[in-house]
Amino acid sequence: MPRKRPGALRAASRPSSQPPRRWDTPPPDRIHGLSAATSLAVHRYEALSDDYYVFPGVIAYALRRYRDFLGPPGRRPRYPYLDDCDCRSCSFRDVRHARDALDVAVRELPPRARAELGRVVAALDRSYLARTLPDPLAHTRRRRGTDGWWYRRLEGCRYAQSGSI
Ligand SMILES: [Zn+2]
Repeated sequence: MPRKRPGALRAASRPSSQPPRRWDTPPPDRIHGLSAATSLAVHRYEALSDDYYVFPGVIAYALRRYRDFLGPPGRRPRYPYLDDCDCRSCSFRDVRHARDALDVAVRELPPRARAELGRVVAALDRSYLARTLPDPLAHTRRRRGTDGWWYRRLEGCRYAQSGSI
């Protein structure tokens, strides 16, 4: 039986000889409302994903977009609306795209981070349900990639969001 080559063993136990892993960059700022550990898990998820719609900072951005949408005080209903452009930047003008991004991240994260981000998103969801109206005709408006329950709320028009409706 051949002995293991000592050189091979040394090489395997020497991490500096390995190429750096892609997420092995300085950790980003902690994401508002999330622990440092979960922020790091989110950062890794963003860095390692090969999904076009996932990029560094996307989850912090999605959370901010979701909070901002629900932010205006008062009880006036809010209306999510579709954007004309589906590039990964413009897509966020549709708050439901931000919710999609959070949904994918929650499913992809390791358990602890998933639970923590899940709680933050669930609290925003309660607010979303309270501030939007059910759409009884949602089933007639289904578009590709719009399976989440957050699409089954009354839509507004992008050009009528300045408080005139
Ligand atoms: Zn665009």
